Amino acid sequence: MKKIDYHIHGSFSYDSQVAYNQLIEKAISLHYSSIAFTEHLDLLPQELGVIGLNSLTHYITQITTLRTTYSDIEILCGLEVGDFHQVQAIANSLLDMYPMDIVLGSVHFLSDHTNVAVPLAAKLSNNQLTDYYRQNLKLVTECKIDVLAHLGVFSRYYSEQVVDSEHYPIIRDIFQAMIDKGIALEINYSAYRKMLQELIPSRELMDYYSELGGRLISIGSDSHQLKHFDDHYCEIEKQIDFSRFDLIAPTAKKYF
Ligand SMILES: [Zn+2]
Ligand SMILES: [Zn+2]
Repeated sequence: MKKIDYHIHGSFSYDSQVAYNQLIEKAISLHYSSIAFTEHLDLLPQELGVIGLNSLTHYITQITTLRTTYSDIEILCGLEVGDFHQVQAIANSLLDMYPMDIVLGSVHFLSDHTNVAVPLAAKLSNNQLTDYYRQNLKLVTECKIDVLAHLGVFSRYYSEQVVDSEHYPIIRDIFQAMIDKGIALEINYSAYRKMLQELIPSRELMDYYSELGGRLISIGSDSHQLKHFDDHYCEIEKQIDFSRFDLIAPTAKKYF
């Protein structure tokens, strides 16, 4: 089975210490055929005010140079757009000007400003869970993304998976919109580094996606450190039935 990782944060992400060349060399040594750097593009005012915005020209130039240095592996230039549905005008114009090989969409903030991608002070309430799935539905319905990243990310900070059965109607709408638009479901193994020792989304949700006719998946380590890359890839190989799913296969653009 070909090895890919389409969710990696490198040195352009404020919260990552990963040097591009070290990551690429590790990926080659572990026989990956294709990887994507997916730097954060966080455009909510409270994020821009703290983190600022990197030069996308500089980012693309760096990845383009790396591709000529390392020809044994496909290197994709991508972004993880945080809360895309809330910042559509600016995100769309940036992506028109700087087209990416792969765009991940993720929900990080609830309507009440809770960040669900960091350790949580308390478990999400039922209303917050409903809000979380509504945000994901808006994201997949309204935004031009290739992959829905880390669905159920909040559960990384729980000791066991949440049973989502009462949210199945809205989750069905999310999956149906993804299937209609050709958006891949990311299987993310970052929860093995946190509290939850499971893949996200949960097995139940993966089965539900499959039952509804969803086949397209992506794989993401969500690495922010070199040691995170590949650290639990074996769980993907153990748990994912690749006869039921197809791996997303974006092609690298020629930027210059
Ligand atoms: Zn994220
Ligand atoms: Zn990420």
